Amino acid sequence: LATLAAGAMVISLAACSSGGDGGGEGAGDGGLVGVAMPTKSSERWINDGNAVKEQLEAEGFTVDLQYAEDDIPMQVSQIENMITKGAKALIVASIDGTTLTSVLQDAADADIPVIAYDRLIRDTENVSYYASFDNFKVGQQQAWSLLNGLGLVELDGTPIEGAPAGPFNVELFAGSLDDNNAFFFYDGAMDVLQPLIDSKTIVVKSGQTDIEQVATLRWDGEEAQSRMENILTSTYSDGSVVNGVLSPYDGISRGIISALEGSGYSLGDTWPAISGQDAELDSVKAIVAGEQYATIFKDTRKLAEVAVSMTLALLNGDTPEINNTTDYDNGVKVVDSYLLDSAIVVKDNITEQLVDSGYWTQAEIDG
Ligand code: BGC
Repeated sequence: LATLAAGAMVISLAACSSGGDGGGEGAGDGGLVGVAMPTKSSERWINDGNAVKEQLEAEGFTVDLQYAEDDIPMQVSQIENMITKGAKALIVASIDGTTLTSVLQDAADADIPVIAYDRLIRDTENVSYYASFDNFKVGQQQAWSLLNGLGLVELDGTPIEGAPAGPFNVELFAGSLDDNNAFFFYDGAMDVLQPLIDSKTIVVKSGQTDIEQVATLRWDGEEAQSRMENILTSTYSDGSVVNGVLSPYDGISRGIISALEGSGYSLGDTWPAISGQDAELDSVKAIVAGEQYATIFKDTRKLAEVAVSMTLALLNGDTPEINNTTDYDNGVKVVDSYLLDSAIVVKDNITEQLVDSGYWTQAEIDG
């Protein structure tokens, strides 16, 4: 925590220094906290898991950190195990936000508070709080970054005077439909893009604009690659080119880049602007190389801080700090949330956003 910039502290952990009421299993005095993460296949979740674990351990808790490799029954049984082992609180980043209803009933029966981490847990009243980012805004930022790559707007969405009229060929990708965030990202992006599609500045030449058509199950880069390959073959064999691709996640962007390279695109004038999310190291390198235009930086350390702070408050009988009580209806109730800000990263501000904040070192980016 001390490594975070002073202004980054949204919630003071020092205000609630004793972790829990003791008496749990494990080495830490504060007892056991279960942390369920979706997969190690994406770097961000590894960073999230490590940050949550470190911060909880610093508060005296023992941490059971589990990754489920995107396997839903595995995640359910990991959470079941945490309950059996006597966890006092659960922090859960779900794979499929609709599949935890039964196991979270078991948690509620054992009086264990549950914090939904980054992804909303749906269809249950047994989720205490939600720690995430402003996900609609993330989607808008993805669209702004794409349009910035096309020379149409500033990074904050302000139109650039004298911008080219287009039309630009843009293809759209969304995330996994079992992840509530996928809808927020896509809705945010389409909030920005739809007016330009209506005015024909942007043309989605494949015609695929419904979220069901553009979704990517489990955010899988290979699935995105083959969808992009199909689009290039079916829609762009007439010599037309793709000018931009809306991608909701760096791993999907890398799949799209592979498809483009495989079908003969090379860096230069005809290379499309491609968005992303998570500031994964390989994608930051791809931004430096000019393959990917932008990513969205969501500081996993700050998100961990919010989740840990919520956990401490709940275990101390306090009310966690929230800043949103309206946006995240999980189908049973609106879940009280703390939403963090995100930032667009393009080649020019990598140092300012990612190196100065200590998220990546210059050596890692250069390596
Ligand atoms: C997260 C994104 C991430 C995606 C794929 C979403 O729920 O909010 O940051 O890119 O999952 O892992």
